Amino acid sequence: MAKNLSFSYSKMGMYKECPQKYKFRYVHMLPEKPKYYFAFGTALHAVMEFIFDPTKLTFPSLQQALQFFDTTWNKTSFEQKGYASAAKELEGYTEGRRIIESYYAANSSSFVHPLSTEMKSTLELDGLSLISILDRVDYLGDGKIKILDYKTGKTVQREPDQLYMYQKVVENSPTVRKLVLSKEPNVKEIRVAQLSFYHLPTLQEMTFERAADKEIFEFWQGVLQIADKIRAGKFDPTPGENQCRWCDYRNLCPVFTGKEYGAVSVEKASAPAQPTNVQDVLSEKIDRCGALEEEVKQLRQEIIALLKQHHFERHFGKNYQAVLSNTEKVEFPNKEKVIELLRRFQLLAKVLVPTQSTILHLLEDDSVPAEAKQSLRALTTQTMQETLSLKKTE
Ligand code: SF4
Repeated sequence: MAKNLSFSYSKMGMYKECPQKYKFRYVHMLPEKPKYYFAFGTALHAVMEFIFDPTKLTFPSLQQALQFFDTTWNKTSFEQKGYASAAKELEGYTEGRRIIESYYAANSSSFVHPLSTEMKSTLELDGLSLISILDRVDYLGDGKIKILDYKTGKTVQREPDQLYMYQKVVENSPTVRKLVLSKEPNVKEIRVAQLSFYHLPTLQEMTFERAADKEIFEFWQGVLQIADKIRAGKFDPTPGENQCRWCDYRNLCPVFTGKEYGAVSVEKASAPAQPTNVQDVLSEKIDRCGALEEEVKQLRQEIIALLKQHHFERHFGKNYQAVLSNTEKVEFPNKEKVIELLRRFQLLAKVLVPTQSTILHLLEDDSVPAEAKQSLRALTTQTMQETLSLKKTE
């Protein structure tokens, strides 16, 4: 039997960012350079694990937590952490201590032991070996779970994929089941009731309700599609200004070297790419891609015009068929008003991201008040849209 593919939220994120980058990291096993923000986050996660150690009956004092942070921090040099200088590392150290002090000032009177901290879970599911580290799992009773993820970056963003992944893992995890049953042996079903991001630098918590089964199903289909592409060896680069600017593999990447990695030696490829070569390769691809896009747009307009002129809904070429259809498009053009309305009716927690599909989902939700639905409907616009689809004939 084929071995399950080792997978995680961060691997999925890297593949989505750029499949070629994933290939460098997980197929060629080339490590990335240390990043100071990872070292900073790791040290603070270790402190939170130390504070909420579920095997201890009491909680450490602020002084003990700070001492633990100092010991963890001093295990590596500033270079190993990825800081540019000792002075920059000192800024990180000072900020880390400030965060711990303010965390204690705000929360130490209400500390409670979680079900688990930094729980490493490996779940074998649908041909995947899914690895997750859950920062904190709380038990709310009656089979209900709260998952909390600590964030240590400058800002905290909604990351629905991460929440979906955690929900999927926790509800299927034998480890979580065992822990819950040790607290309440008669529990039949384990359900995630809440998912939270806790931003340590600002002590802000963003809490979301359980994602709907339909959302999880769609998310999981996406995960399985990515896994299929990885198994099929599909690693085409998807260059972009943001991802390429910070990518450690630029000097090896075919987009910048003009050659497949492996066709050149690592030593040679590690040398900085020739700017003229990079500019030539990129310019040629950009121009070719732009010209093709323009031609496709023009062709589609001509096909639609001809189909309409002759009242055809469908027509066949030698290898493809074209189908013209009209679909009703429902939109929420005023996003700010939608968010304001969701906030007024306290519905923001019900949607991880206020997209068209999540809002439409709310309109079918029996627990949403009729007044809220009516107000949401008043914000929609409906238009008919012509869609041309091209399919390969059998
Ligand atoms: S340099 Fe850009 S295209 Fe190449 S691997 Fe990195 S992110 Fe992908």
